[in-house]
Amino acid sequence: MKLAVIGTGYVGLVSGVCLASKGHLVTCFDINETIVNQLDNGICHIYENDLEKLLIANKSNMSFSLLDDETEQHLMNFDAVLVAVGTPTNNGRADLSQIESVGKMMGRLIKNSNEYISVIIKSTVIPGTTDTFLKDILEKESGKKIGDFGLGMNPEFLREGNAVEDFQFPDRIVFGYEDLKTLDILNRIYEPWACEKIEVNTRSAEMMKYVNNALLATLISTINEYSNIARELGNVDFKKVMQGVHLDNRWSPLDGDGKKINPQIIDYLKPGCGYGGSCFPKDVMAISALAEDLGVSSRILSAVIEVNETQPEVIIDILKKEVSQLESKRILMLGLSFKPETDDVRESVSLKLLELLDGQVKSLSVHDPIAMPNAKSVLKLDNNIEFVDDWPNKLSDTDIIIIATNWVEYTGLANMLDQIEGKTILDTRSLLNQDDLLNVKYITIN
Ligand code: NAD
Repeated sequence: MKLAVIGTGYVGLVSGVCLASKGHLVTCFDINETIVNQLDNGICHIYENDLEKLLIANKSNMSFSLLDDETEQHLMNFDAVLVAVGTPTNNGRADLSQIESVGKMMGRLIKNSNEYISVIIKSTVIPGTTDTFLKDILEKESGKKIGDFGLGMNPEFLREGNAVEDFQFPDRIVFGYEDLKTLDILNRIYEPWACEKIEVNTRSAEMMKYVNNALLATLISTINEYSNIARELGNVDFKKVMQGVHLDNRWSPLDGDGKKINPQIIDYLKPGCGYGGSCFPKDVMAISALAEDLGVSSRILSAVIEVNETQPEVIIDILKKEVSQLESKRILMLGLSFKPETDDVRESVSLKLLELLDGQVKSLSVHDPIAMPNAKSVLKLDNNIEFVDDWPNKLSDTDIIIIATNWVEYTGLANMLDQIEGKTILDTRSLLNQDDLLNVKYITIN
């Protein structure tokens, strides 16, 4: 099929490349000329495992285009237009301005064309956006009705760092549709995928994405709250507590051979520094704001947000309790991205920890294998932060090491006992094992 993808960020680019890898002819459009030029030269502007390799391998099925007044005309030459523009947060509410702008443009194009085209939203949008907000814009701008054009919602569940694999081997694919032709198009687009496919109206598809993310965020905040209670109570081995909880058959059932399955959900049931990234924080806030608009009480969502927002402070308080004269200490923070295997620092807890430490310590140095350029562009702190490329070399100049992102390379600390002797490690991700660390003050968030 001939597919257009509007918005070539984490979701749009991964989708475009993976769809091309299945034989579709894909053109990715973006309003950012630098991104388009880079991609045209086979260079990914974001870091995602295997993405650049797959892009280069499927270059013959792909093209990239700046989206402007001239090129937008080409959009009517595709079987479907997938929309993957940003839906950031604005005062806790979903900012739909990018969707609005694409909707107006598509409406104008539909008005002047006799072709049927299906507009399919991949961005995460508040339930009711596609069948009301976007539909109204498209109908008003085009003077036509659904049926003359198509409307769909195909939420994306990929996880950054694992996005290519998640797109290629999804747990399910959701076909939200407002007209049967769009449902048929969605079925044809995803024909090469063998996983379960769920057909619903667009509103239910939108809701599925929010419930999925909000539920995972709820688990994270809930466990952080229990861990905070246990710490205050004292003399509780919370790691063992959670080990016992995890072994409950309902969290980790037995497989056919009687062996315990260790499902990924367990990772959400561990205390830490809270959730960050481009999705959970904004999505939980947006669904909570929707509830408020509807006059529905959303006390759980409010608590999830509150616990998460205060968790970085909890972590710095733990450090202050464990280490005297913090102001005289030289800190090395390891990890800036919101999770490993990505360069994305949006809503990264590492940056919040840095803000809280700024001005409170003797010096702050930071390292990340790939996210330092992105962090440099967003950090606005008074104190000078030193960005170090060779973090093992910095250990001799460091009093406290904070593991803020669980990049595998930081497990190497356990093999540097000479260099870390006498130092403090605050491991917010429970990456290391206390037993491996002799002569080190080791603090975790258990
Ligand atoms: P992003 O900011 O990385 O990319 C958005 C892209 O859209 C940018 O390159 C921007 O230049 C472009 N753009 C903005 N307005 C445009 C327009 N009018 N025409 C053409 N291009 C335009 O965002 P993202 O992380 O890819 O997220 C996109 C959507 O997918 C969001 O709604 C997000 O919530 C959702 N989502 C993200 C993830 C994730 O892990 N990042 C996962 C699932 C869903």
